[in-house]
Amino acid sequence: MDKNNNNKQDIQDIIIAGSGPAGLTAAIYAARGNLKPILLAGEIWGGQLMNTTEVENFPGFPEGIMGPDLMQNMIDQAKRFGTEFKYENVTEVDLKGEIKVIKTAKAEYKAKTVILATGSEPRRLKIPGEDKFYGRGVSTCATCDGAFYREKLVAIVGGGDSAMEEATFLSRFAKKVYLIHRKNEFRASKIMADRVLANDKIEVIWNTEVKEVLGEETVKGIKIYNNKDDSESELEINGFFLAIGHIPVTGYLNKQLPLNDEGYVQPLSFGTPKTNIDGVFVAGEIQDVTYKQAITTAGDGCKAAIEAIRFLDEIE
Ligand code: NDP
Repeated sequence: MDKNNNNKQDIQDIIIAGSGPAGLTAAIYAARGNLKPILLAGEIWGGQLMNTTEVENFPGFPEGIMGPDLMQNMIDQAKRFGTEFKYENVTEVDLKGEIKVIKTAKAEYKAKTVILATGSEPRRLKIPGEDKFYGRGVSTCATCDGAFYREKLVAIVGGGDSAMEEATFLSRFAKKVYLIHRKNEFRASKIMADRVLANDKIEVIWNTEVKEVLGEETVKGIKIYNNKDDSESELEINGFFLAIGHIPVTGYLNKQLPLNDEGYVQPLSFGTPKTNIDGVFVAGEIQDVTYKQAITTAGDGCKAAIEAIRFLDEIE
């Protein structure tokens, strides 16, 4: 027992929370550093790439790779070096003391260092009808639910790369895809936007906001508002998709780390995985306001694991 009544065998060197590219890369580095990491992968593991199709820009895969295959490869690599996986969500943490405590619904874990890489979750519009039909007509994952809309009418909201990718994916199944964007230009990369604009099945509706999802038992349409000519109308659709970005998953922190106005963790300084608590590191989208790419979050995970290894070397 140590001075805080902790049984030393129960105290890990490192716990990693999150199983996207950040958490898994951290696990690969920590496991190769012989730290025997426990990775809290979440009940739904693998992060956002599990819901994507082909990843064309992850270096090392010149022909592209399917998102779930890329994640499975990372999991296999982390397991190969001895990472222990627990498919549990973090519910609460206590980061203050020398020994950090991480709670899930099933267990309580203790460690000298933690890497928080819990990523982000889809942003919602918070309009009437959205909750009522969520999971049965309203979706944040076109790749999961697109096939239900074969020869049907669907609408998707957003102007970023996700909206482009998902509109293109939906066009494989749907009779018609309305892509609704609140501005008159996309923020998406040119290559992905051009692909959408050249697709005959996709009709872009510019300067338009969705105000309500309509229907009784099933989705029948949406109420839309044109913010240029100040007009409102209804659009008949069977499925409604959201691709309006993500918000960081930081609720379990209960304000133990500083957050910015949008809820992202603020590291000690830009680009470092260190936080204002010794032994606590962050990686990936919970702290990345800017880049949000699979490769950048993987790099964050690598940096976090290297810093955790250095920290353990210093305290031991
Ligand atoms: P983004 O934050 O890039 O885009 C979100 C879009 O949703 C913006 O067009 C934004 O509008 C719109 N939006 C946000 N909130 C609302 C709202 N309340 N009502 C209506 N519209 C709203 O998110 P993405 O998920 O598209 O992309 C995230 C990151 O992931 C990016 O860095 C992107 O490059 C990357 N990514 C890369 C891919 C690839 O390379 N294969 C694939 C998918 C994503 P506005 O433009 O007006 O702000």
